[in-house]
Amino acid sequence: MTEIENKPNKSTRKAGVLLQQIGLNMVMVGLLILLGFLAWQRFFEKDGSRVASAEPESGEVIEPGKGGPYKVEELPVALSPLATSAEPGEGIIRITNLKTIIPSRPRVDVITYTVQAGDTLFSIAQNFGLKPETVLWGNYEVLNDNPHFLKPNQILAILPTNGTYYEWKENDTLSSVADFFQVDQDEIINYPGNFFDLTTDDPNGGITPGTWLIVPGGKRAIKDWGPPAITRQNAAAARYYGEGACGSIYEGAIGSGTFVWPTTDHGVSGYTFDSGVHPAIDISGQEGNSIFATDSGVVVYAGWSDYGYGYLIVIDHGNGWQSAYAHLSAIGVGCGQSVYQGAYIGALGNTGNSSGAHLHFELSINGAKVNPLDYTR
Ligand SMILES: [Zn+2]
Repeated sequence: MTEIENKPNKSTRKAGVLLQQIGLNMVMVGLLILLGFLAWQRFFEKDGSRVASAEPESGEVIEPGKGGPYKVEELPVALSPLATSAEPGEGIIRITNLKTIIPSRPRVDVITYTVQAGDTLFSIAQNFGLKPETVLWGNYEVLNDNPHFLKPNQILAILPTNGTYYEWKENDTLSSVADFFQVDQDEIINYPGNFFDLTTDDPNGGITPGTWLIVPGGKRAIKDWGPPAITRQNAAAARYYGEGACGSIYEGAIGSGTFVWPTTDHGVSGYTFDSGVHPAIDISGQEGNSIFATDSGVVVYAGWSDYGYGYLIVIDHGNGWQSAYAHLSAIGVGCGQSVYQGAYIGALGNTGNSSGAHLHFELSINGAKVNPLDYTR
């Protein structure tokens, strides 16, 4: 008696087709809802490349989306004729058009961005398709070339292209500005985001002091606010750097040329090594965690630094190598003291320009900063 099930008659087959169609439609609607949800989720997703250096209290969880959506204070108002000619493309219906932050056509003017909790120099640069250097170059007044100066609610200028941002001064010339940033002056004149009066006799295009120019492809050295090269022979040369400076020191322990991890936590949280913008690593940890000498040597700086590094220890290993430990909460050694590899020298902290407890650890050989991760783990 399974005939009906095996051989359905005409009307049940018809009903089956209808049910199939309804089912198919429902699947399509479901897929569309899923797509919409995924697009929405993607928008709120944060770049996971950095864990906020502020350690949560135990049990507290940092949500990946904590920073929320990007806030673009000011959308491009002045579009060049070239940019507006791209308008016909607007006819395409974009499902996620509500979430579009960065216009699909090239932006040529400077917009602003409000720093959110959890942002880093690298994540901001990546979100706008720029190099981290460009974010520093565009905001010298706010960040002073130091990624550790980044704080929530700061308003940053976001350049439309990689390069530098320059405020025109009295007596400037286009060629001197172009030379300084190592570009051809035509790059500046022809950039649509700069508004030169090309009808004037003025060789500088009528630019007046106070005008900000975008210098596409422009470069300049980024200031390293870290401690200067301090050897035991020249320890006093860091006198300008803060009250932790030491006097002359002539002898003491010599390092082995091998390095041990300088604290209890092994995670790099915050900024990792970048020779351009952060020649150090930030190691995670709780305030008060022990800090150890990475190799034997002599303490050549121990105390407060005036350049954002808070309480700082610098050890000269006597063989060309030096190590620096910044943002400390306590200093357990003094100037000229010999320390041995792995010895306790102080406590992890959050002093100076630091947003959350971490150890900023630098390693250098003959004055050149290297990535500590290449030497110790
Ligand atoms: Zn750092």
